[in-house]
Amino acid sequence: MGVVSMKGGDGEHSYANNSEAQKSITSDAKPEVMKSVNEMIVKMDFPGCIKVADLGCSSGENTFLVMSEIVNTIITTYQQNGQNLPEIDCCLNDLPENDFNTTFKLIPSFHEKLKMNVKGNCYVSGCPGSFYTRLFPSKSLHFVHSSFCLHWLSKVPDGLEENKKNVYLRSPCPPNLYESYWNQFKKDFSMFLRMRAEETMPSGRMALTLVGRKTLDPLSKECFKDWSLVSDSLLDLVSEGVVKESDLESFNLPYYSPDESEVKEVIENEGSFEIKNFETIFGLLFSYKTGHSEVKDDDDDVDHSRRFEVVKTRANMTRSIIEPMLVAHFGEAIIDRLFDKYIYHACQRYDTLRNKPTVNFFVSLTRK
Ligand code: SAH
Repeated sequence: MGVVSMKGGDGEHSYANNSEAQKSITSDAKPEVMKSVNEMIVKMDFPGCIKVADLGCSSGENTFLVMSEIVNTIITTYQQNGQNLPEIDCCLNDLPENDFNTTFKLIPSFHEKLKMNVKGNCYVSGCPGSFYTRLFPSKSLHFVHSSFCLHWLSKVPDGLEENKKNVYLRSPCPPNLYESYWNQFKKDFSMFLRMRAEETMPSGRMALTLVGRKTLDPLSKECFKDWSLVSDSLLDLVSEGVVKESDLESFNLPYYSPDESEVKEVIENEGSFEIKNFETIFGLLFSYKTGHSEVKDDDDDVDHSRRFEVVKTRANMTRSIIEPMLVAHFGEAIIDRLFDKYIYHACQRYDTLRNKPTVNFFVSLTRK
């Protein structure tokens, strides 16, 4: 199977430096996460120790932005109700290949930014392993968070032999390819829910954000976007003799973006969790970064250098996500050229891609 961990370190193409878009979607979901934490505490009557897990924490600061919101919400809720502060156990999970070191180096500044008094009471630990397996003891977790992970499958689905020139679904594609992806997602997401159902306490909560698609039709053009740019770039490298055709033919991403009804169907069929809230959060495929904030690109008259910059931002983000997978299959030598091609294709298609929304789902769940 491919290596689904993001690119580690803090270099130009690292996940830590190219995850602004994920950060901005996650911060849109923040008020709902805080509400869920608050309700959980009241329902459980102010436990003396609260165990929180961020599943698929990756490398970089995103996990701490979420964790500090959660911890600060816990503190505020206890203080407002005149309760003694609890001990807080923050578990950061990702696959063993993840660059935990980059993440762990941020722990001191995470502690610094927490509300006063809690430093001694908040413990951070790493928990390597796949979230499609058991990670924690039975009924030990109060709150589970996971963002931008559940669209990553446990493996490349079986039955994709016909998908020769694409790295993911692409219109037009035979329905059986879609079935292969959807079946794998169903299996994996059900397993995720079953494992968490065993690990969470009664009335425990989960907040999940994942990439989805809007349309009910999986074969429509809407659901491939970014990956089709990768496919086209690889095809270029095949025609230039840089990549072997058979290598492209045997490469498929262990990825699936479900639609709303598919996510709900799996949750309902698995049966351990009740959906408290389901929201769609839109982002933009191409957005433009200035300084620390992201500016949406809605200017009609985008000049070429700005267009290049916008596309490069996206290319770097895509690269930070799939470079380890590409390197494992094609080798390191093709990566720079591949993303030069990506930038070329994205610039060519800029006018059709620039206002395309990305679809993300936020799901708030409670253990029945
Ligand atoms: N939560 C962060 C990072 C998302 S990147 C954010 O919102 O920015 C997705 C992460 O999911 C990657 O670090 C990848 O290694 C992790 N991941 C993918 N499949 C996983 C699995 N089966 N178990 C644990 N982590 C997984």
